[in-house]
Amino acid sequence: MGRFSALRKRMVEEQLIPRGITDPAVLSAFLEVPRERFVPEELQKYAYEDGPLSIGFGQTISQPYMVAAMTQLLDLKPEDRTLEIGTGSGYQTAILARLCRKVYTVERIPGLLERTKETLNRLGYKNIYFRLADGTLGWEEESPYDKIIVTAAAPEVPSALIDQLKRGGVMVIPVGNRYGQDLLVVEKDEKNGIKMESRMRCVFVPLIGEQGWKE
Ligand code: SAH
Repeated sequence: MGRFSALRKRMVEEQLIPRGITDPAVLSAFLEVPRERFVPEELQKYAYEDGPLSIGFGQTISQPYMVAAMTQLLDLKPEDRTLEIGTGSGYQTAILARLCRKVYTVERIPGLLERTKETLNRLGYKNIYFRLADGTLGWEEESPYDKIIVTAAAPEVPSALIDQLKRGGVMVIPVGNRYGQDLLVVEKDEKNGIKMESRMRCVFVPLIGEQGWKE
């Protein structure tokens, strides 16, 4: 077993399973996606540590457990089309792409998106679609989505994202102030009703845009 795959296995056994990540499909995605490829070279030795890491441009790759918890809350089905806001390193994107049919991912920082596109293309993903834009407005042309995941902290749930969620769909989004947020699960029922529930506290970098924070 390679050095990184041993670290990957340990991450799953020590950071994910004991904290309640039990979905076998989610766990196998975490055993397969090479997290070291999504961090800057000088930080590769820390890729499997239990926390976020800097990825440049003032942004971070989320803690593995947070990526896993959000993924498990989405309850992805193989036929799902998922919208992701905040591509960042692309690690969460890769996990999603293993668990559903198509991933539409939106990032606002051009240099970050270019680098991440290259990483994901090199790894061979064919079911990821990229867009450089303000993700607080979603990606209307491809809507509605079965699932939506936002990986930056919003002051409130952007109405555009609620509109672009399918009936029966689920959105996972951190909502709060700049220093701490509630990780919300937002469900839209068959009659277009909305139910929101906080599942845990979390800390994300700010979601910046028209329906997010000002720069
Ligand atoms: N899931 C990513 C998280 C990266 S941090 C990872 O683990 O690597 C959050 C990302 O959201 C940053 O890359 C930031 O630039 C991006 N972001 C912030 N506001 C945004 C917006 N309005 N639209 C799209 N992306 C946004």
